[in-house]
Amino acid sequence: MAEKKKKIVKTIKVDADLCNGCRACEVICSAFHAAPKYSSNNPARSRIRVNRHPLKDIYVPVYAGEYTASECAGRDKYTIDGKEYEECAFCRASCPSRDDFKEPDSGLPLKCDMCEGEDEPLCVKWCLVDALTYEEREEEVEEEEGPEEMEVGLEALANEYGLDKIMETVARMSMSKKA
Ligand code: SF4
Ligand code: SF4
Repeated sequence: MAEKKKKIVKTIKVDADLCNGCRACEVICSAFHAAPKYSSNNPARSRIRVNRHPLKDIYVPVYAGEYTASECAGRDKYTIDGKEYEECAFCRASCPSRDDFKEPDSGLPLKCDMCEGEDEPLCVKWCLVDALTYEEREEEVEEEEGPEEMEVGLEALANEYGLDKIMETVARMSMSKKA
């Protein structure tokens, strides 16, 4: 039987009614994850995306979640309080059917890491209208082995370019490092 372990669960609560679509969360997230840190702020690198439809008064911040290798066979469409949201509007996946949550240069999937190393997620700090709020709680969970972040990235690259191409590139890089 798997052992129980205490784990801190971090949650960002989204109140879409308070969001005004300013995109400050996207700007700070992309700047924090730039290399070197804060050297650029391309929102395409952000781990949070704000669905904005000003004419319909729709602003929905969505966080990048898990990578998926295959797209859904069907689509969901939501109508809430008379507002009709686009297909996939609430989906957190980096998936083959759209460009969201993909590193624009490499095509690697992006995932929110809760601003690892910071006391509080930066998107929460930068959201001046409190549409995003941060909470932590402790939970007992069964210890489970999941795929490492690097494994997920490599799988995405292999799907895009083929395993042989990846192996060739790694071999070439390793030769040039030795030279
Ligand atoms: S910073 Fe806050 S108000 Fe601005 S787009 Fe992001 S969630 Fe919405
Ligand atoms: S918590 Fe950090 S990594 Fe996640 S979306 Fe917000 S700024 Fe980006």
